[in-house]
Amino acid sequence: ELLVGLATCGIAAGGREIYEELESLISDMHLSNVDLVKVGCIGSCYCEPTVQVNIPGHAPIYYGYVDLETAGRILNEHVLQGKILKDKVVPMTFNRTDPSGAKKKQYRIALKNCGNIDPERITEYIAFDGYEALAKVLTEMTPLDVIHVLKESGLRGRGGGGFPTGLKWQATNQQKNPQKYMICNADEGDPGAYMDRSLLEGDPHSVLEGLIIGGYATGANQGIIYIRAEYPLAIARLNTALDQARDYGFLGKNILGSGFDFDIEIRLGAGAFVCGEETALIHSVEGKRGEPTKKPPYPSEEGYLHKPTTVNNVETLANVPEIINKGAEWFASIGTRNSKGTKVFALVGKVKNVGLVEVPMGTTLREIIYEIGGGITDDKAFKAVQTGGPSGGVISVDYLDTPIEYESLRSLGTMMGSGGMIVMDEDNCMVDIAKFYLKFTMDESCGKCTPCRIGTKRLYELLDSITKGTASPNVLEQLDMLGNNIRNSALCGLGQTAPNPVLSTMKYFEEEYRMHVEEKT
Ligand code: SF4
Repeated sequence: ELLVGLATCGIAAGGREIYEELESLISDMHLSNVDLVKVGCIGSCYCEPTVQVNIPGHAPIYYGYVDLETAGRILNEHVLQGKILKDKVVPMTFNRTDPSGAKKKQYRIALKNCGNIDPERITEYIAFDGYEALAKVLTEMTPLDVIHVLKESGLRGRGGGGFPTGLKWQATNQQKNPQKYMICNADEGDPGAYMDRSLLEGDPHSVLEGLIIGGYATGANQGIIYIRAEYPLAIARLNTALDQARDYGFLGKNILGSGFDFDIEIRLGAGAFVCGEETALIHSVEGKRGEPTKKPPYPSEEGYLHKPTTVNNVETLANVPEIINKGAEWFASIGTRNSKGTKVFALVGKVKNVGLVEVPMGTTLREIIYEIGGGITDDKAFKAVQTGGPSGGVISVDYLDTPIEYESLRSLGTMMGSGGMIVMDEDNCMVDIAKFYLKFTMDESCGKCTPCRIGTKRLYELLDSITKGTASPNVLEQLDMLGNNIRNSALCGLGQTAPNPVLSTMKYFEEEYRMHVEEKT
């Protein structure tokens, strides 16, 4: 079996050409016993195109940076003669046969099938226990049983907020209105983040299964996946998965003969960052401007079309089938006291092994960046890492041994966010970094409230004056005061967190700011 990585990262690096070359060689050589499989991203985006060779009785061998010549050699030398091309093998940063991560730092729950199955064949998902959790839920559990398991597991929202998923489901379940909705938020928009896209491209059925189970638990009969239109491959694979799920009786009327009806439709977003906020997302799904509104009322009381609605992130839902299959106790045994399970991160920037990683909560930044990520590009000095995207902040070298969990990151002035992790080295200017993120939130502000609409512009102008050498001597005090004012008075999370990159870079790199001001004024 040859697995070719054909997620967006693999395709961009030339994976399709490698697949076609292998397909034609297999046909020319009449190798009818070789199964060529398209898979999603295995996580090692830095060495795409990738080909994994699985020969029964042998450990999988993983090739990276595969070109057309190497593709031919993989067939001729490895598959036919059993000779491994040692110069082309790249180490897996996780261990499929030892998911506890004793040897490797990663532990795959949400990503367990990504890079391992063909996302366009439901039979492969089923072969890896797919839809077993749904069958169990519909035949053995009441909606309240499901909610109980989710609460006991400790699963918290992976979109950034970290709200307990079981409590969210319970809040919708308790509503009397017979019409309820379940929405999957796939409006991933942080710069550098692509966890949700990759998950949907590599294993769409796990998200569908989580969404259907959520519908059963909350009492919803209609699911909606809100996904940005810039994700064409994820959308295509979702559509294929939806058709197959209907054909197999996992979606639609009377699912698996249980009497439970649930169907899912896809709604495309135009790529506004603010539509990741659940009230703005709901407005966008309703066809209105994607503007946030004040909470309460919460979507669980009054959401889509004023009906009780649950909004869950892609990664959150992908965890659900495994929790049902393996139990709350199993999930709660992974991670830390307050942050259970694992988290997927997009490890990007100045790091050698750029890609997706999934680690138990409590893993340190140092382990992620140096042991999984291979260290800093060109062996330069680590300077900082940005977590939480434009809503988060930077963490300096002094905190590399901080265990990653919701609370620890918050105490450092940043946040988990949806999982973007951008590594910076000694060459990065922290004022430029703050400017970059602030420009992003300024452009993405929906303009509804003044602190965000005007405040982010003024904040940006102050940063700009520093980089242009025209800043007033008290510019740091102005940045601090304005940043805190925006944080305290903006209407939604986008505005409230927009000053974070500025305030956190000032907190850890004040000297660098002062040098800029003193040198240039
Ligand atoms: Fe819109 Fe910004 Fe106000 Fe949020 S904080 S409602 S994004 S203007």
